[in-house]
Amino acid sequence: MIKIINPLDRRYFALQKQNQLVMKCEPLAIVLFKEFRSNRCNYCLQESQTNRCSNCKQYFYCSISCQKSDWKQHKNECQLLNKIGREMPCNMLILIRLFQNNVDILNFYGDVDKDIDQNIYQQFFDCAAYIVKIASLQNESFAKLMSIQVKIHLNTFTVSDINGDTFGIALYTPANFLNHRCIKTSPKQQNIANCSHFFNNRQLIITTNNSFIQNENDPQELCISYGNIINFKERQQFLKSQYGFICECDRCLQEQTENKDQENQDLFNKKQQEYLTLLNKQKFKKAFSILEEIIIEMPKYYDNDNHPYIGWKMNEASKLGFHLNYLIKAENYSIQAIKLLEPYYNENEQFKELVGRLKDIKAEIKMQK
Ligand SMILES: [Zn+2]
Ligand SMILES: [Zn+2]
Ligand SMILES: [Zn+2]
Repeated sequence: MIKIINPLDRRYFALQKQNQLVMKCEPLAIVLFKEFRSNRCNYCLQESQTNRCSNCKQYFYCSISCQKSDWKQHKNECQLLNKIGREMPCNMLILIRLFQNNVDILNFYGDVDKDIDQNIYQQFFDCAAYIVKIASLQNESFAKLMSIQVKIHLNTFTVSDINGDTFGIALYTPANFLNHRCIKTSPKQQNIANCSHFFNNRQLIITTNNSFIQNENDPQELCISYGNIINFKERQQFLKSQYGFICECDRCLQEQTENKDQENQDLFNKKQQEYLTLLNKQKFKKAFSILEEIIIEMPKYYDNDNHPYIGWKMNEASKLGFHLNYLIKAENYSIQAIKLLEPYYNENEQFKELVGRLKDIKAEIKMQK
């Protein structure tokens, strides 16, 4: 495990080896996007049949045990939710949860005058009516709730599943104090993200990238990429509107003047699309060969040879390879995937399935000999 030296000026510095765990964080609050609220469990976040809280009718759970686990926080907000209304924006649900559970985030980064981009004021107006209601029901000042709202906006993580598909937002501390840089795309770039972040159900995990340099005498500031968007202009726009700053990392400075690397990366996205299309058309052999190309390029895309999302892609290759009777390849991908995923996902159902499949593949190889 990493040794964090000190949170100097709210930035975390660390001494450690490459490709290691930096931190694991549990969420202060986590909320699903509206379209997922009734078909995913609001506690374990898994897609499933759900039952809603019979009182507020706003939170849905897959089981009594998940409902019980969430009740520690939900019991304090359930009545209030009832009075305010249904189908609230994510930011409002997080605000209510933090506020009703006395979670203090006023020391988090963010200020309404300095850090909020004018283009997104509309979002805040949309929430203002709710905030007025909460303020009057709870006898709290509008200004204080508004400043919590700004901090939530600037400190949230978008939560995604193992395929990188997003389904909600959450607040994690101390991960929220890590600054942003973009992911390295060429050897010239030095001032870039030296850490990756990813999710294991509710948990946020941070590990180091290939470009992390260990130097006992010169501890590094830990930085993650807030959004790995390939297109330079889109990425800049996203960072400005969501987090209120203009990125000036080495990659952004370079991409301002040249387009070459970007074109290569757009190809990577096209390949991912092609793979999904081939799967849908059940052209499995062609899909498998595209999947192998994707796996080769992924470490470059993340600047991280050990990123677990590469492991999940290898898990797909193991499954598809087994189906196509490419046994040696399937065995190989299973072994590599297990190596990448075991440190973080050993309790995960899909991981257990992968381990079981490797046994079946080995048995099949033996039989065919
Ligand atoms: Zn659940
Ligand atoms: Zn409730
Ligand atoms: Zn950048």
